Amino acid sequence: MSFYRPSIETILAVTRGDGPICAFLHDLSALGEQARALRAPLPPGTDFFYAVKANNDPQVLRALAPHVAGFEVASAGEIVRVRQAVGSAARIVMGGPARTEGDIRTLLAFGVERLHVESAQAMRLANAVAARAGATIPVLLRVNLAGPVPGATLTMGGAATQFGIEQSAIPDALTILRDCRALRFEGFHFHTVSNNRDAAAHAALCTAELAMARGLAAEHGLDLRIVNLGGGWGVDYADPDWRFDVIGFARALTPHAKGLRLQFECGRIVAAYHAAYVCEIIDLKQVHGRAFALLRGGTHHFRLPSSWSHNHPFEILPREEWSHPWPRPELLDTKLTLAGELCTPKDVLARDVPVPRARIGDLVCLQMAGAYGWDISHHDFLCHARPERIFLSSSRETTEQPA
Ligand SMILES: *Cc1c(COP(=O)(O)O)cnc(C)c1O
Repeated sequence: MSFYRPSIETILAVTRGDGPICAFLHDLSALGEQARALRAPLPPGTDFFYAVKANNDPQVLRALAPHVAGFEVASAGEIVRVRQAVGSAARIVMGGPARTEGDIRTLLAFGVERLHVESAQAMRLANAVAARAGATIPVLLRVNLAGPVPGATLTMGGAATQFGIEQSAIPDALTILRDCRALRFEGFHFHTVSNNRDAAAHAALCTAELAMARGLAAEHGLDLRIVNLGGGWGVDYADPDWRFDVIGFARALTPHAKGLRLQFECGRIVAAYHAAYVCEIIDLKQVHGRAFALLRGGTHHFRLPSSWSHNHPFEILPREEWSHPWPRPELLDTKLTLAGELCTPKDVLARDVPVPRARIGDLVCLQMAGAYGWDISHHDFLCHARPERIFLSSSRETTEQPA
């Protein structure tokens, strides 16, 4: 498997060139291949959805559409976005907390096939809206496990979080659901951890969740058709070449899948690898013993490393042009901190990373920038110009100029 590393020639060829470079570049062909490779080892009949919140760009959605079962959305806005990008045929399932009446109306209007409910209030609201419309909504109940659960970067279940219905409250939720005549129970939903890098531990967690779903169904006399095991397959930002063992994961899980339709809804592992965020070095300085590269760009475009307090993987792409009459500043064999253009010390993308050379005018190429990057960032903070967003594929090249 690969990750996207655009060459300096490609970057110079596809960017506008009317100022310092700041651009997201996406390889849409590789993105599609990535989804296909993740889906292939799963048991036959498994639905592999893409979790839209990782990257909701219409071009990303269109590139993925042929290679996934459909799209998992968490808001009415994401429903509309998927329909506009890929049309009426795409399958959509909806999850997430804090559901409103408007969400349910949008779900019905746009042909969303299933709702993952996370509370009694959400069930009653969905039931009321569906009944009024003369519709039936198939639902999965999202379970927040009693825990503890194996370690990962983010934990949504097995802990005191706002997600799902806690395991001990599931029997009461099922009682309420029985009275919701406009909802149809189809199974359970689990999205317990995000960025789990241990495929064996993730398979063990999913196996336990499947056993719990079967146990609950047997105990309560339910027709269990579907278990959605969420997303959470990990990536390693410290090692872009490392890969989650999808084949081992699928092999461990397959014997436990008999008689059920399994579903997954992965975001990060699908979208992370095949985009890069490229920023020109605007300035270099040494302050109190630390070496800084100041970039055209920063956390207002790419908040992920500051959100996770990690050093984002990058390489420096040397550029030879230098148009100023003064000597070109450079740092050699230094530990470099990548800072953005915002007036806050939090605007840091990597800290004290050894580099052989950095010069003003060179490009910093941040890798694995496709998931939870642009989409989670505070674009208007300080009103700096937006990055170019460039979508390349082997057959064509499309560019969306910033607004
Ligand atoms: C965010 C989310 C996902 C995707 O998680 P990844 O860790 O990106 O794979 C799936 N399901 C739900 C309910 C989510 O909130």
